[in-house]
Amino acid sequence: MLNLVKTRFNGVAEKGAEVVDNFKTKVNVPEDILYKCPRCQETTLMDDFLAQGKVCKCGYHGRMTAKERLQITADKGSFIEYDSDMTSLNPINFPKYEEKIGSLQQSTGIKDAILTGECTIRGNRCVIGVMDSNFLMASMGSVVGEKITRAFEKAIELSLPVIMFTASGGARMQEGIISLMQMAKTSGAVKLHSDRGLLYITVVTDPTTGGVTASFASLGDIIIAEPKVMFGFAGRRVIQDTIKQHLPDDFQMSEMLLEKGFVDMIVERKKIRTTLAQLLTLHN
Ligand SMILES: [Zn+2]
Repeated sequence: MLNLVKTRFNGVAEKGAEVVDNFKTKVNVPEDILYKCPRCQETTLMDDFLAQGKVCKCGYHGRMTAKERLQITADKGSFIEYDSDMTSLNPINFPKYEEKIGSLQQSTGIKDAILTGECTIRGNRCVIGVMDSNFLMASMGSVVGEKITRAFEKAIELSLPVIMFTASGGARMQEGIISLMQMAKTSGAVKLHSDRGLLYITVVTDPTTGGVTASFASLGDIIIAEPKVMFGFAGRRVIQDTIKQHLPDDFQMSEMLLEKGFVDMIVERKKIRTTLAQLLTLHN
């Protein structure tokens, strides 16, 4: 049920509303009916947002599941998954980690925060990896790192290009140092693939941060980003509080990173498949 209860000017909330201050009311928005854009803060009907491919009117490209992404990227029926049963152990005995992983596997239908495999895109064969932010904010732990490394090794074996759709909150704190070592491991795998003269394309989606930015996400021969995507290492607030300076509004946004040369091209979601197919054909 939609809970839109107005607050009276004297600051007393009517039943069901939470008073934020004298003039504002917190609105409980049901996620399955309305979508609130994190960029423009506008609320639209979820059906309209979905009909636009999860793209807001302001241009913000919303988060997709790995399966949705594969559906709009790979040729129909061409995806063959690698390491589909790989699941995480609890290497540092983090409290309730197994339960958390178990419930996320149930709710998302995937075993960890990335799907890897091979597919064709308009007939061009490639190895592909797609991160899924619905799974522990697509943090990189042992499974994500291992699956990426194996994907690159397979691509070397088959002499295939690699495409990685990145999205991540960074390293997975529940796996401590084991998650941090995935940065070096995945970067090493990218280097071996690169040494063979094979193409690696990253497609940065919202948000890509932390250890993923500091490793394989930034190592693509070609770095594509969706519009208005947040792509950075430490978060805005952390940096602002450390350097005690105001940061520009477009800080860590793909548009600013394109201007600074960190991103090669910004491509709208509806054109990504065509762009990838063209790049793969060109480099084949
Ligand atoms: Zn918006």
